[in-house]
Amino acid sequence: LSDLSALAGFDARVDSALSGADEGDARRVWETLGACGIVDSLYHADAHRLDHRRLDVLLTALDARASFGVVLSVCVQVATVIPILRESAAEHAIARDMLARLIRGEIVVAFAVTDHGLSGSALLGLRTAVSLGPRWAIVAGGKDWITNAVGCDHALVLCRFRPARHFSSFCWVLVPADCPGVTAVPAGGQPFASAGLGHLRFEDVSLSAGHVVGRPGRALLDFAKHVTTERLAGAMWSRALCRRVLRDTRAWLMRRQGLTGPLWDNAAVRERYARCLVELTRIDAIVEALVGRVAARGSGGLDLAVKASVGESVDLILGGCAALRGADSLREGGEAWLRAAASVFALGGGATGAMLAGVADHAEVLLADPARARRAAGGDVDEGLGPVAEDVPSGRVG
Ligand SMILES: Cc1cc2nc3c(=O)[nH]c(=O)nc-3n(C[C@H](O)[C@H](O)[C@H](O)COP(=O)(O)OP(=O)(O)OC[C@H]3O[C@@H](n4cnc5c(N)ncnc54)[C@H](O)[C@@H]3O)c2cc1C
Repeated sequence: LSDLSALAGFDARVDSALSGADEGDARRVWETLGACGIVDSLYHADAHRLDHRRLDVLLTALDARASFGVVLSVCVQVATVIPILRESAAEHAIARDMLARLIRGEIVVAFAVTDHGLSGSALLGLRTAVSLGPRWAIVAGGKDWITNAVGCDHALVLCRFRPARHFSSFCWVLVPADCPGVTAVPAGGQPFASAGLGHLRFEDVSLSAGHVVGRPGRALLDFAKHVTTERLAGAMWSRALCRRVLRDTRAWLMRRQGLTGPLWDNAAVRERYARCLVELTRIDAIVEALVGRVAARGSGGLDLAVKASVGESVDLILGGCAALRGADSLREGGEAWLRAAASVFALGGGATGAMLAGVADHAEVLLADPARARRAAGGDVDEGLGPVAEDVPSGRVG
């Protein structure tokens, strides 16, 4: 009960903070959330883990009030940048300082993994490189389709520091956006303008060695450790978005007059709408299953299945709502527009095809009989799910 009332209190805090913010401006929203302590209170004080219920509340409130791009901008920072920076904050002064400023909403940090000119799913091949000296680091390369690229203060950049095609060949570099040699070009058009989506280029960017954060060699392990949270955040956001659009669509269908009455009374319209609702139920169930699994010991490949499933369900729901709304769906910010923007759910953090390859790799774990596993463990297994294998990064993990 106290958890529920704490959550209601958090909900009210978020609501009151957002009521004063300019909801189309990602930096202002981030500043507001940071200054009110909302970003900080997303994480458990003890182990710095993200509180998934609070994350859900925040994403739902943002979806209701802010533009699509603003939600994307916040989502990447709370679910990916902060958890990964935390991994190195204890040992690195610059990471510690940036993390504190980020949480207070004073700076915006982009997360740059997807390499220029290379499939985003082919992580081990990435070419953006850092040359490491005793006191210096020089970054060269480029990252494409990066949220917050345009207008960020820093970018947390995944760089290769040795040529071997091995998971231990990478490190994180915190690159200040105003360093000579750093450029950002907007990409993705209007839907993503408020997310600062763009391409970053690094032309022999010269930095002090302190900008290399985290132990060289550990970057992909840090990434794999937190990618489930990123996928869960995306799934929670998609659930909030689809629920809102389905509510709006139903209200519209009830008002819209056909020949014999409101469109909502037409059996074919209702069936089409019901199919969308079925997809929402699917997202809901799979999100809750993943919350349970994350709270236990790992995802056992469920995060990959969630990502693949959500990407398809969102497209079916928004495509269905666009069709139900006819020409009206083409209005600025309408369902057809939203459907195009929501392709990020099947791309950002891993394309569906690459996710499916990973799902197949986890077939044994995903096929395990949960009831049997519970019996074998004397009942000490998370509800409704099978045993969890060590998570192995497969394909693009972010
Ligand atoms: C709105 C938006 C925001 C983004 N924000 C960020 C960000 O902040 N930071 C960041 O680093 N990146 C970001 N990205 C990039 C995103 O992570 C990549 O788009 C994603 O990893 C997929 O890479 P890709 O687009 O190069 O597609 P590719 O990997 O080239 O895939 C193209 C097609 O090939 C298929 N495919 C690829 N590999 C396999 C495989 N192994 N098995 C089966 N099929 C496969 C895919 O399913 C897809 O259909 C963002 C992208 C978008 C659209």
